[in-house]
Amino acid sequence: MTNRNMNAPGYCDRPESNRIDRARDRDSDSDSDRLERFARHIILPELGGAGQARLGQSRIVVIGAGGIGSPALQYLAGAGIGHIVIVDSDSVDAANLHRQTIFAPADLGKSKARLAASWIGRFDPCITVRAVEERLTRDNAEAILSGADVVLDGCDNFATRLAVSDSCVALGVPLASAAIGRFQGQVANFAGHLPDQPCYRCYVGDAFDNDDCDTCAEQGVLGAFAGMIGCFGAMQAMRILLDGVAALGDPQWGRLHLMDGLAPSLRTIRIAPDPACTACATVSAASG
Ligand SMILES: [Zn+2]
Repeated sequence: MTNRNMNAPGYCDRPESNRIDRARDRDSDSDSDRLERFARHIILPELGGAGQARLGQSRIVVIGAGGIGSPALQYLAGAGIGHIVIVDSDSVDAANLHRQTIFAPADLGKSKARLAASWIGRFDPCITVRAVEERLTRDNAEAILSGADVVLDGCDNFATRLAVSDSCVALGVPLASAAIGRFQGQVANFAGHLPDQPCYRCYVGDAFDNDDCDTCAEQGVLGAFAGMIGCFGAMQAMRILLDGVAALGDPQWGRLHLMDGLAPSLRTIRIAPDPACTACATVSAASG
């Protein structure tokens, strides 16, 4: 820990030991440089200096560096989220490139998590970033998710989504969930560990635990729409991080935003907690 001002907006708090290129850092991470970098954030009354400082101190885990995750990661890094973990076991395929625009043809066959981490490292050396080249399961979830301020799930199958959600409930970590199917996008924030709040399993039920479908391959996906929903998910995750600090910080727990990308239109519904939910009913009752 250094003696620099932790309250400085966008403060770069990456430990000295993590710095790959200290000469480059000296040119890019001064407090004045960070103020300039995030000036258009800080001037927003809904975010402000306190909000930017909170983002700089926050930890997010992003599940999936695909059609949802790659645009989300670009804007989470752009927002100066201080600590980012990327979980993805896949490698880049040519059919990914039309929507996963942080990757290029030279990346084919390489690890998405590692490439995304490299992209963030080049984009903002002040961000600490870690690539987890594994699929999140119930066995490794605690090690990966513990200590996160929020998890953003943009993965491509229900089995992983339910494992992520159940683990978030058990660990007390809020979840931002973003998904698309053809031209319908769904984005919602969950806090199933809190009393009277639903979790993702309250919404989808128990029927999909073994569902490993890849709907993009089967149904197709429009790249720009995946980008919209990925960015929407990134913004909802930031609402969670800014809760109690900035006016943007209304997490909107349990409100499901449904976007029709063809119309286009947006409607919002409220998800009710399932009193028989196998993931959150006992946990939220105990914490209440
Ligand atoms: Zn639940």
